[in-house]
Amino acid sequence: MRSLTFVAPGELRFDEVDAPVIVDGTDALVRPLAATTCDLDHHVIRGITPMSALGPFALGHECVGTVVEVGPECATVKVGDIVGVAWHIACGTCAQCKLGHTARCLLHGEAQYGLPLNGYWGGTFDELVRVPYADFNLAPLPAGIDPVHLASIGDNLALGWESVVPTLAGIDNPEVAVFGGTGSIGLYCVDAAVHCAGARTVYYDDDPVRMEVAAKLGAEVYDINGKRERNFHLAVDASADPVRLRKALLSVMPEGYVNSVGIYFEDVAVPMLNLYLRGVHFHNGKGHARPSMTPTLEAVAAGTLHPELVTSGIYAWDEIPDVLTSADAGHKPIFVLGD
Ligand SMILES: [Zn+2]
Ligand SMILES: [Zn+2]
Repeated sequence: MRSLTFVAPGELRFDEVDAPVIVDGTDALVRPLAATTCDLDHHVIRGITPMSALGPFALGHECVGTVVEVGPECATVKVGDIVGVAWHIACGTCAQCKLGHTARCLLHGEAQYGLPLNGYWGGTFDELVRVPYADFNLAPLPAGIDPVHLASIGDNLALGWESVVPTLAGIDNPEVAVFGGTGSIGLYCVDAAVHCAGARTVYYDDDPVRMEVAAKLGAEVYDINGKRERNFHLAVDASADPVRLRKALLSVMPEGYVNSVGIYFEDVAVPMLNLYLRGVHFHNGKGHARPSMTPTLEAVAAGTLHPELVTSGIYAWDEIPDVLTSADAGHKPIFVLGD
């Protein structure tokens, strides 16, 4: 089968590799229908992450696909199911998985698709993907919804829901600020804040394309370098930029929440005295995806969420290397695998 290989910064190619097979009885094999980039992948390709020095490896950890084979111990997943694939490898039954912390699975740790962190699992730009604990890690897609715009459900799209909706539970008339900067996550957060949480939502950025999408999703949109409010219940830092992280930390009301999905590879200065005086609940960490995939899919099926507005372009599979190494890859390019 063909596998998309990240060779080095700015260099992607398709390689012929052995297709994965069923190893454990709980495995399933999934052929992608559509796959897309996590915002992190763009940083890997640009060479600005520590992982950018680890090539060659199979890139990609977001896809939806068709189940083409199941192991004998799969109870709910069947051949022919159209599913979303969680980006991480999680057993579903250890103490952390039971708490919903599937990105901290005690059996598999850092293991995931598309980065060589703990074992080899291939990438979701491969033509066939082995999914362990398939009953747990695969989420059936709702019938009647075009799966293409759900390509991100296994990571960034579910992370938008995860970063906003649980935090706002029980808050009347919530007000949310989203600090953009990375490609798609901030926009998925806006969608969840406006339409799932019913929040007044403000989006800060300086990228005109993302700002236009955020406005379409129902946010009030302001230049990140302009005046900012400081009384939000929740600020989401989706920037991966220390200057914007600081702005997010300073924008919430006393005892407010800041959820950061940005990845910082170096230490950053944090205004600790201000946080102390204000009282701030700060969370930074990987998205757990799987527990949030089902409610996110239900919200899409109900017409509440609008992931199609975040998609920046739809391309053929063969175009993956050229599009992803071009200067204008777009904030959420989705690639469709033909028959
Ligand atoms: Zn990711
Ligand atoms: Zn586990």
